[in-house]
Amino acid sequence: MEIKFERFHLQADLLSPLKEFESVSVPTEVRIDPLTKRRSRIITWGLPPTGKFDFSQLMAESKECFFCPENVLSKTPQFPKEIIPAGRISMGKAVGFPNLSPVGTYGSVVVLCREHFLHLNQFTPEIYEEALSLSIEIIRRIMAFDPDTRYWQISQNFLLPGGSSILHPHLQVIGDPIPTNEMEWLLDASSSYYYRNKALYWNDLVQIEQGLGKRFIASTGKIHWFVPFAPIGFNEVCGSIEGHGSTTTLGSEEINSLAKGIVSTLKYYEDKGLNSFNFSIYSIASEFAFQPLIRIISRTPIQSFYLNDWTSFEVLHSELTSNIVPEELCREIRPYFP
Ligand SMILES: [Zn+2]
Repeated sequence: MEIKFERFHLQADLLSPLKEFESVSVPTEVRIDPLTKRRSRIITWGLPPTGKFDFSQLMAESKECFFCPENVLSKTPQFPKEIIPAGRISMGKAVGFPNLSPVGTYGSVVVLCREHFLHLNQFTPEIYEEALSLSIEIIRRIMAFDPDTRYWQISQNFLLPGGSSILHPHLQVIGDPIPTNEMEWLLDASSSYYYRNKALYWNDLVQIEQGLGKRFIASTGKIHWFVPFAPIGFNEVCGSIEGHGSTTTLGSEEINSLAKGIVSTLKYYEDKGLNSFNFSIYSIASEFAFQPLIRIISRTPIQSFYLNDWTSFEVLHSELTSNIVPEELCREIRPYFP
């Protein structure tokens, strides 16, 4: 195994007005991702949330909602008949249909629940089980129609800081014949690792992280949850899905485990005073060196004086930051997992 956890220790010296202009040293750690070699800065002095946000005004202003039960089966787009003859597709309370504003070849929306708004601690494993099962069914149906669409993401953007203009909880299921940048980086690096080591990077990583114990959270069935050594976002939690090439072969047990891990992470975010997040499941069909991965990150919470968490570092230097030491996040979040 050639997995290395490399880091740089940087230090800034200054005369602090907070300590009567005494000399202080502020450390910053730069970590290098063992697979992609991408750098992350661990910055722990980020501003804390300013307390619970009152969502009542936002809920009232957005009540004319196409995703609410009275509209979702009449005012949302329909799939072409040759893909899904009924136009839309449902599973339990989840409803799927094409995105009216797609950003690629196949863009679908899966509405998670009948409720117009949920706090992070109100999402249940059942909600995600139904929505993920439905998302995977949409991927299967589209791939049966167009097998060249190998690159898929199942993502959630929650609340305005997460990039969603619609309050009603929903997933994005997006498929293309070409990968996103991130998919290509992951795939290229995983393939190179496989050829050099004759082993799957993700299995090796999980084995090492389990042994070290500092960043390994838990295994729920075949999903192995850990905090990455070099996070690419705030409070990042990853789940590696063992034994599958893409999400299309996942069974109900794995979907159930995935749902539980998402809900555990969201409960932790809620307890930390957070309210906005993104996740993405990366799924690539017919690649033996890759297995699906889920990444969940928090965003700075929606609050009256919103602070964007992407600065010139992230936007213009592709240098990503984490607001918590990964090993500390792991210690804090572990009790939330089953
Ligand atoms: Zn709604």
